[in-house]
Amino acid sequence: MGKGLVYLIGAGPGDPGLLTVKAREVLETADVLIYDYLANADFLNYAKAGAEVIYVGKKGGDHTLPQDKINELIVAKAGEGKIIARLKGGDPYVFGRGGEEAEELVEAGIDFEVIPGITAGVAAPAYAGIPVTHRDFTTSVCFITGHEDPTKEKTGHNWEVYAKSTSTLVFYMGVKNLPMIAENLISNGRDPETPVALVRWGTRCNQESFVSTLENVAEEAENRKFKAPSIIVVGGVCSLHDKLGWFEKRPLLNKGVVVTRAREQASGLVSTLGRLGACVYEFPTISITPLEDYSAVRKEIKALSGWDWLIFTSVNGVKHFFNQLDETGLDARAFAGLEIAAIGPATADALVAKGIKPDFVPEKYVAEGVVSGLLERGIKGKKVLIPRAKVAREVLPEELRKAGADVTVLPVYETGLADNDPGPVADALKAGKIHYLTFTSSSTVENFFNLIEPETFHKYKDAVKIACIGPVTTRTLEKFGFEPDIQPDDYTIPALVDVLVQEAAE
Ligand code: SAH
Repeated sequence: MGKGLVYLIGAGPGDPGLLTVKAREVLETADVLIYDYLANADFLNYAKAGAEVIYVGKKGGDHTLPQDKINELIVAKAGEGKIIARLKGGDPYVFGRGGEEAEELVEAGIDFEVIPGITAGVAAPAYAGIPVTHRDFTTSVCFITGHEDPTKEKTGHNWEVYAKSTSTLVFYMGVKNLPMIAENLISNGRDPETPVALVRWGTRCNQESFVSTLENVAEEAENRKFKAPSIIVVGGVCSLHDKLGWFEKRPLLNKGVVVTRAREQASGLVSTLGRLGACVYEFPTISITPLEDYSAVRKEIKALSGWDWLIFTSVNGVKHFFNQLDETGLDARAFAGLEIAAIGPATADALVAKGIKPDFVPEKYVAEGVVSGLLERGIKGKKVLIPRAKVAREVLPEELRKAGADVTVLPVYETGLADNDPGPVADALKAGKIHYLTFTSSSTVENFFNLIEPETFHKYKDAVKIACIGPVTTRTLEKFGFEPDIQPDDYTIPALVDVLVQEAAE
């Protein structure tokens, strides 16, 4: 048995992008992941297949596992020779009890390393436009717990020192005790007019913040119903909040947006929406799977030169067709002499990435609009191959046939109903957290209503705006008794996002 190793890892304050590269590398290779309550648990997706994932966190005062048991668990797992990723919010050594866990490990003779994380006390203010130090305001910064260990006999706080210092004071876990904190600072001599900022859910899509003064902040926090997790910042630097605030200006901040595309296709849309500030609910309604038998595809690939035109209708079509090209031992040279069309810019990009510049990309991205363009290109009487999903709309091949082309459809992948738990999206709908529902194809509509009953959706519809990528998707939506609120003129994902942003600004 090898020697165990424990990594005490800081997961950062919530924005998934604020995990360090080193932390991610360890998460990808660890045998066991032990984690506390985290502002964002997406990191668990980095775990390798078969890794054991154990939640030991606490929410509020509710301990899932007491600290001594957590220590025992870590020691036991490491004793089995395993690599352990012990993940904590923010930084493990800043109010994270990481120090105590490290001491336990030393006593048990277990090797460990620390991967620091971005602490909420720096990140949440930064995202709210507050640099914790600034030469015009302060020469030091002080991190303070607003919730001392209740079993301690003597307080570790020296309010007089905090009050008299010119440090920026950053309180963690302090919202409940905010009246006491403000009172102690004022009674020990801090100016009641000192600016104070509260940042709740810092760095996440639902971040909120406000600035007040020491004498008013407790009442204002109460009025605004500010709760944990919040960072409290006391000091002149808070006056920069309005000038330097950037994160909360994002156009889709705190807007819940459901993405129904297949997981394989969704990453671009998900990250764009995330960058715009949205709280994205990934709810893939479609699964994309390879075919069981590719013999027909390989046969066509070996005889590619017999075709005049190849029309790709989706990124998946490109991906699966090229996979088979590769399997057959061929490369892009097999396309020499053929004319190639891409129905839409994303498909065209996928082809370009494979070294093929499509000869034709229509201006409108629905089958109906494609045919006229191809006719102009002289497709009449030509042999046309369309690699695409096994089940798909027949409009394009039919219209091309009517126009005199000799069309063969070649299935290269299959789509199906994604086996997805509708629970989280249904709960978010009920809680009024969903503002936009996006449909990017007819099958996303059909499968969405397969997973969530139209009657159920109807109850919450008033709070939700539906965005459809184009007229075909809209027609399918209408079959279920709903009208889209948003439909871009250009039937592409970037256009859909643009319209959504415009809508949100209104
Ligand atoms: N080790 C963590 C702190 C754990 S103590 C770190 O370095 O950030 C938990 C407290 O951290 C919360 O009560 C809150 O005050 C603060 N906190 C953690 N994440 C936060 C976030 N995203 N926004 C605001 N405060 C946060």
